Amino acid sequence: MPAKPLDLAKARVLISNDDGVHAPGLKLLERVMRPIAREVWVVVPETEQSAASHSLTLRQPLRVRRVSRRRYAVDGTPTDCVLLAVNHVMKDCPPDIILSGINRGGNIGEDVTYSGTVAAAMEATLLGFPAIALSLMTEDRHAPRWKTAERWTADVVGRLAAATWPTNVMINVNFPDVEARAVTGVEITRQGRRKIGGALVQGTDPRGEPYFWIGSQRVEPGLPAGHGPRRGETGRRLGHAPVARPHPRAVSQAAEGGFPVNPDSRKIRLVLQLRRGGVTDTRVLAAMERVPREIFVPEPFRDRAYDNLALPIGHHQTVSQPIVVAQMTQALEVGERMKVLEIGTGSGYQAAILSKLCRRLYSIERHRPLLAEAEKRFARLKLTNITTRVGDGTLGWPEQVPFERIVVTAAAVDVPPVLVGQLTVGGVMVVPVGDDDDQRLVRVLRTEYGIETEDLNPVRFVPLVPGVASD
Ligand code: SAH
Repeated sequence: MPAKPLDLAKARVLISNDDGVHAPGLKLLERVMRPIAREVWVVVPETEQSAASHSLTLRQPLRVRRVSRRRYAVDGTPTDCVLLAVNHVMKDCPPDIILSGINRGGNIGEDVTYSGTVAAAMEATLLGFPAIALSLMTEDRHAPRWKTAERWTADVVGRLAAATWPTNVMINVNFPDVEARAVTGVEITRQGRRKIGGALVQGTDPRGEPYFWIGSQRVEPGLPAGHGPRRGETGRRLGHAPVARPHPRAVSQAAEGGFPVNPDSRKIRLVLQLRRGGVTDTRVLAAMERVPREIFVPEPFRDRAYDNLALPIGHHQTVSQPIVVAQMTQALEVGERMKVLEIGTGSGYQAAILSKLCRRLYSIERHRPLLAEAEKRFARLKLTNITTRVGDGTLGWPEQVPFERIVVTAAAVDVPPVLVGQLTVGGVMVVPVGDDDDQRLVRVLRTEYGIETEDLNPVRFVPLVPGVASD
């Protein structure tokens, strides 16, 4: 299904979703479909059912509440809704097509196995109806670009209705997180696969009890903003979900020259590597492109400056891999008005990147000769908003507290409490935590009640050593 193209003007459309009866994405989809379809029916969950996947309610009764004409709410899952719609609510007037959405948040790669939005469309497909799941990618979940979905829904649904697609295939549409006018077209892709990040947020509730919160999947590495599933990794592994996505011009621009083009092809290659590694923040990418890394590495390694490698800088220390610098900087979410503290100046490379993104950077290094070199580089590059000192970074910089952001570029055994104490409430620290064999980047958010930590990717840093070095 559909064996033949569907005339939407004559079609009875059923809408379901997983965000529930009050969801803005539902209202949007109804608003777009009403003028172009003969009839629009809505059967949706009473409450949000995100990540309910294809679950059925078998151990408790279900109730169907008539909200208004052709609008119903069910106290169950998206799958329950579609089943009840087809077998009960619309028994005598079956739908011609079933739409699910528009979900707040994308459903690509592995998402489709968790998603209630996709499950509703999957259930519809299994019941023999043509079905389309619709989702809006959101990098910032507080500000979904509904206008983009609103502008493109009729177009995409119209094209799909006018086409035919194989029996038992459902369509999964993802609108990109770009302005409506930045969308350049519609692209059919295959179902992709991606690794779900270890974004487990741990915190303490106001009563002092610990809790875990399964964090956002949108921040994981390997998925550039607005990109559809990565192709060619698993091909048709799930086999049921071709994916149509409007193609964001913004994405192709970013990859091909949305930020200033540098003639050095090695630099361009590195920036593309960073994007593939999940660094999507264009401010971070632009800073990485603007700061000449060759100045920060010793002469024998200059021709490797744009390889994605950690390189020795003397005194048994290293300048971190570009991808790690970029990931740490991205995780720090530095604003241009912020005061930032770095522990471990080293070559000064990370400091130079940060200085492009913040108001003022303070940086501490325990090796005096390393700092002297770094300061020369800052002067040469005219980076005037960096203040440095030789000292023991584990003590922070008490004269300058508080800091809105702190980055530690050497591995601590645990999140350093002294440094947490120098953060503003709402401030963020990024710090590698662990021993030589097992280190993770940790993002620490200082809250009114203490801290919340989020584990990011595994890393390998030189250790944070207390005291000032004697050289
Ligand atoms: N950010 C640096 C990375 C340098 S490696 C760069 O971009 O090049 C880590 C640095 O942390 C080393 O230079 C090391 O000397 C320094 N370091 C380790 N323990 C420290 C401490 N307690 N206080 C200050 N610096 C420290």
